[in-house]
Amino acid sequence: MSGGRMTLAVPNKGRLVEPTLQLLHDAGLVFEERDRSLVSRVENVAIDILFVRTNDVIEFVRDAVADLGVTGGDLLAEAAATLPVVRPLGYGRCRLAAAVPSDAPLAAAEDLAGLRVATSHPRATTRWFAERAIDVEVIPLSGAVEVAPRLGLAEAIVDLVSTGATLATNGLRPIGDLLASEAVLVGNPAALRESADEVARLDTMLGAVLEGRRRKYVMMNAPAERLAELEALLPGLESPSVIPLAHAGMIAIHAVVGADDVWGLLPRLKAAGASGILVLPIEKLVA
Ligand code: AMP
Repeated sequence: MSGGRMTLAVPNKGRLVEPTLQLLHDAGLVFEERDRSLVSRVENVAIDILFVRTNDVIEFVRDAVADLGVTGGDLLAEAAATLPVVRPLGYGRCRLAAAVPSDAPLAAAEDLAGLRVATSHPRATTRWFAERAIDVEVIPLSGAVEVAPRLGLAEAIVDLVSTGATLATNGLRPIGDLLASEAVLVGNPAALRESADEVARLDTMLGAVLEGRRRKYVMMNAPAERLAELEALLPGLESPSVIPLAHAGMIAIHAVVGADDVWGLLPRLKAAGASGILVLPIEKLVA
C-alpha cells in the first residue's frame, strides 16, 4: 500500500490482458487504460493498477512493489517461490501437458524415462517427474517448444495446451497432463495481512462478477397448477420466487439457473407450461 492505496499488478500484453481488464471493469472499477503503460489510477476505489509483463507479475507482488497481482496458475507453479492465491479467476484456462510425436511408441509419462523433455516450464516439469520418480532430462527452452522434437532437441515436450490444435499442427499427440491452469489473483503475504479489509472488498466484487457469469436469471409465466412440475426443473440457488399475476390462475416464476443449463432447460420449461420465458444476465451475485 502506498498512501493508503492498494496496488494491483496486471499483464500489459498477451492473452490474459483482455479478460483481466474486462473483469476489473465488470467489478465496477473505473479507470483509463490509456496505452497500458505503467500505472492507471482507479477513480472510484483506492487502487492503482500497475501494467507489467505477465512474467513479471509474480516478482512485483513478491517484492511488495504490488500488493496483489493477476497471473497464470502455470506461471505460479513455475516461479521460484510461491505466493498465496486469493482467488482463481476462471479464465486463461489451459493445461500443462506432455506430448510426443504422433508416431512415437510412447503412451504415458512413465514411457519418457531416460528421454529428453523440452519445455518452457522447467521447474514445474522437473518437480512433476521427480515426484513420480521418472528419470527424464529436462531441456529448458524459452519458446517454440513444439518444434523441439522435429529439431532433434528432445523426444517429448511439456507445453501449455488449450484446444490441442497447436500440438496437432506440429505432429504431436498429448500423453498426459502435469497441471491444469487458469488465471489467479495472488497477493503479497504481508499486504494480505495488513490490508485484509481492502483485499476482501476487492475479492468480494471479483467473486460476485465471476459467480454472476456462471448463472442466468430466468423469468417466466405459467399456470399455477403447473408450479410443482416447473419447480422440479429449476434447481436454482434457492427456491424460485413465485408471484401471482393479475390473470387468475397464472403465476410468474423467477429463478437463478446455471448458465450452461439454459439451453437444455428452455424447451423443458416450455413443455411444462411456461410461456414468455426471459433469460437475463446477472451482473453480480453474492450467494
Ligand atoms: P501470454 O504468453 O502473455 O499470452 O500469456 C500466457 C499465459 O496465458 C500463460 O501463462 C497461461 O497462464 C495462459 N494461457 C491460457 N491458454 C494458453 C495457451 N493455450 N497457451 C499459452 N498460454 C495460455
